[in-house]
Amino acid sequence: MGADHSKMNFATPPDSTRRSLKADWSARDLAVLWHPCTQMRDHADLDGARVPLTPIARGEGAWLVDHDGGRYLDAVSSWWTNLFGHANPRIAAAVKDQLDKLEHVIFAGFSHEPGILLAEELLRIAPKGLARVFYGDNGSSAIEIALKMSFHYWRNLGRAGKTRFVALSGGYHGETLGALTVTDVPLYRATYAPLLGDPIFVASPDCYEREPGEDWQAHALRRLADMRAALERHAHEVSAVIVEPLVQCAGGMRMYHAAWLAGLRRLCDEFEVHLIADEIAVGFGRTGTLFACEQASITPDFLCLSKGITGGFLPFSAVLTNASVYDAFYAEYAAGKAFLHSHSYTGNALACRAALETLAIFRDEPVIERNRALAQRLHERLAPLADHTHVAEVRQTGMIAAVELVRDKATRTPFASAERRGLRAYRHALAQGVLLRPLGDVVYFMPPYVITPDEIDFMVEVAARSIDAAVAS
Ligand SMILES: *Cc1c(COP(=O)(O)O)cnc(C)c1O
Repeated sequence: MGADHSKMNFATPPDSTRRSLKADWSARDLAVLWHPCTQMRDHADLDGARVPLTPIARGEGAWLVDHDGGRYLDAVSSWWTNLFGHANPRIAAAVKDQLDKLEHVIFAGFSHEPGILLAEELLRIAPKGLARVFYGDNGSSAIEIALKMSFHYWRNLGRAGKTRFVALSGGYHGETLGALTVTDVPLYRATYAPLLGDPIFVASPDCYEREPGEDWQAHALRRLADMRAALERHAHEVSAVIVEPLVQCAGGMRMYHAAWLAGLRRLCDEFEVHLIADEIAVGFGRTGTLFACEQASITPDFLCLSKGITGGFLPFSAVLTNASVYDAFYAEYAAGKAFLHSHSYTGNALACRAALETLAIFRDEPVIERNRALAQRLHERLAPLADHTHVAEVRQTGMIAAVELVRDKATRTPFASAERRGLRAYRHALAQGVLLRPLGDVVYFMPPYVITPDEIDFMVEVAARSIDAAVAS
């Protein structure tokens, strides 16, 4: 890229002479809707610090376009769901074709071609040893399914005392009550704690917590001792260990070395507990391999998939498990061993078709290789930020990169959370045409795989300016 790159501006400023359709839709929205993960008062025009609500008219590739023509680069893949761009023509065509054939059918006693083909394809590409696919309709429901199936497996084997789960500090698995039970992000969990179960939280191998001078691997292996100690003490009452392989996403894009995962697999075998790999966010190429588990050469007992599985088109999830789990439920009806978990939209045909087409893109195109080059570009452009006086760490795993903002670099003292520095970065970047959505004070990048090198440069330049704006007193 030449020196003139800094003058590039992908964002089109809205035409101020026209009446703002964006403002109209925003006002109508705020009169009737209640948005997720949002203090709605932030959108009110009360104290000059209004957070804009941005209705989107259409999407194309990595870009979102509002009703006034304003453009936003989707640096977070719309909550990590979008892989191949908004309104991706290939996935859209497949869904349109499916629409005229079958939209949905009850999935108990009935089935359909996209659902069958998708299960075959998932088992073909997943880590070896997985043999059965159970569908859900969102990420949290996949977690509920895996937790219930694991518990029920042990019960069917006569080991009903295995009722607890081991989860990691800083882990996130969704916000329905079962998924929230094994989540350790206070923002989501603290308020509802009285409603939740009682998991055993073990220290995460999170590389941000390593000792000065220690490398990711040494730190990860040291943390494995904590897991061993927990299992030595609790394995008799533990059904499964649940983890996000390689990157704890919602907990702040905290990353760790694959050696820990390999060690965890050995511990789970040794102590007879299941391993649930929640690849809802990291699956489908995010970490540099199709599944993150591949980097540790392990196969979990349950693999939970969602988000990118439909390319970001439709809500859907799948839980893959092995034959020995399946066999523990397979019995005479009267034995009462069947797995009971049913969502009305289980196996939705449109979602299955979108997922099939998404997987076909992985088959037909060198996605993982292309991502390697894009990830390298992102790495190079982000590197200078490591020297910023308010940046404690720049870290990256494949197509996920994060910049950890702190008040004091030397002591890694965070900003007071009430200062909402990350939100300042969000507002600044949005005004410059980039959708960032920092997790607290962690500014991260998880762009669609169709992002171009030039767009990466633009994204990082806007982020750098937004970080400067956010940390200025
Ligand atoms: C998003 C996410 C979930 C929950 O998925 P939803 O579809 O939002 O319910 C679970 N686990 C991980 C790791 C996630 O990132």
